Amino acid sequence: MKIAYSARYHIDIGLHVFPTLKYRLVHESLVALGIARSEDFVEPRPASWEELALVHTAEYLEKMRTGAMAPEDVAQLELPWSDEMVEGFRLMVGGTIQAALIACGLEVRSLTSHFRVAAHIGGGLHHAFANHGEGFCPFNDVAVAVRVLQARGINRIAVIDLDVHHGNGTAFIFESDPNVFTFSIHQQHNYPLWKPRSTLDIGMPDGTHDATYLRELQRALPQVMAFTPQCVFYLAGADPYEDDQLGGLRLTKDGLRQRDRMVIDAVRAAASPLVITLAGGYARRVEDTVAIHVATIEEATKTRKHEN
Ligand SMILES: [Zn+2]
Repeated sequence: MKIAYSARYHIDIGLHVFPTLKYRLVHESLVALGIARSEDFVEPRPASWEELALVHTAEYLEKMRTGAMAPEDVAQLELPWSDEMVEGFRLMVGGTIQAALIACGLEVRSLTSHFRVAAHIGGGLHHAFANHGEGFCPFNDVAVAVRVLQARGINRIAVIDLDVHHGNGTAFIFESDPNVFTFSIHQQHNYPLWKPRSTLDIGMPDGTHDATYLRELQRALPQVMAFTPQCVFYLAGADPYEDDQLGGLRLTKDGLRQRDRMVIDAVRAAASPLVITLAGGYARRVEDTVAIHVATIEEATKTRKHEN
């Protein structure tokens, strides 16, 4: 399985609840545990400003490029502006694009044309809207990758967003696109306050445990796959975890692994390409966040082994 990753995702944003270090730790852990080999990793190129413009407004991109952000823009984004920050996230959007092209067999540099699953140690920046960034998300990587695929003739796309926070930016961007099915399971009483409607939204009460969560997911997945997507993006947020600082659900590590397994199996049964992005994760111990992300990628590699 190919995994997009760059060491440059470890962006210096100062002391922050968002641990950009997790990307490097996930990469290290995958190698140390023998889940991935060095040849499995692909270094993305940054998304071009033209690609970003498939989703984002010219005014917003100009602000990001020049740093002409008002204090309220920075407060909403919750990240300090710097060239390094913008370049790091542009690269991260490129990683999701690259994983999508690989999963769909469109990556020209790959020798095999038929990859079905690709992962990205990054991405899932689902709070970014067309005209502004918020909640640590400067650009909406999945939305940009969806538009890139659509420009290449892959039109029907599903987004399965299981981050603990609602995918407000993604839902709003695709609100009127009948070719994109957006599905979100999230904690209802959590950021973002305003939750634009996804195609299918399931808001969970505070403190929801594994069994209830997995039952709802199992019930919803057939609805998503009935859309017959030609590609599925999965935002495998680690923040529904019981010890997350920004989440209020009570999923265990084992429950999260079962969640991943359910999604991967459902997409695989439909023979759709699958693109996995990490999204959020703010556990008190960063090792927990890393272990949850690593488990997601490990489950995806198991799919490959069964197929081979
Ligand atoms: Zn989140």
